[in-house]
Amino acid sequence: MRVLLVEDDAVLASAVRDYLARDACAVDWAANLAAAHACLVTSYAAVLLDLGLPDGSGLSLLPSLMRQAEPPTVVILTAQDRLSDRVRGLDAGADDYLVKPFDLPELSARLRAIARRRSGRRSPRIELGDVVIDPALREVRLGGIAVELTAHEYALVLAFGEQPRRVLSRGQLEEALYTFDATAISNVVEVYISRLRRKFGRDSIRTIRGVGYSWNVEGTAERGVAR
Ligand code: CA
Repeated sequence: MRVLLVEDDAVLASAVRDYLARDACAVDWAANLAAAHACLVTSYAAVLLDLGLPDGSGLSLLPSLMRQAEPPTVVILTAQDRLSDRVRGLDAGADDYLVKPFDLPELSARLRAIARRRSGRRSPRIELGDVVIDPALREVRLGGIAVELTAHEYALVLAFGEQPRRVLSRGQLEEALYTFDATAISNVVEVYISRLRRKFGRDSIRTIRGVGYSWNVEGTAERGVAR
């Protein structure tokens, strides 16, 4: 999931970024409103919005966010004593808020809930045929047995899980890996798709020539998994 963090505190920003990377969340950081506006060419699933920014209030970013083709879920990050700002933010289209200082595990849980709502799932677990992803535990099981995955592999499986039955383009999958700066390698998606096929079976991921890849949710009985 691609997240924009608008926050002028560099220490907090890097802590958030590092923590969310473990959830396969790719976080872009904007330290002020101008940088945040420049980021809006990208489509984000969620925006974490500090209100007290060097060049104005984070609230002034909300109209631009709401005008996006697919508006992101906005979580306001605010100090305890700025209750009126929080209320104004919620009235102006923000979805949620977190009071600083906040716990990183709580932020991570809120973002998982956002991902769940955006994909229209009711259950916190994601099912892809006989593969079950538990985002809270960062655990993936195939036929009930835990599969060990690297952070990159997990990010790709989660990308498929968040949009099941959809064909994901190479660009979308690169986006899922973006958080690791892995896009520098030209065939990074192909490399990880082939690693996933080794772990989940040859037919676990279909190649749709010229379009992208889709997860085979029909099941894996004869996938021939090499473990
Ligand atoms: Ca601030």
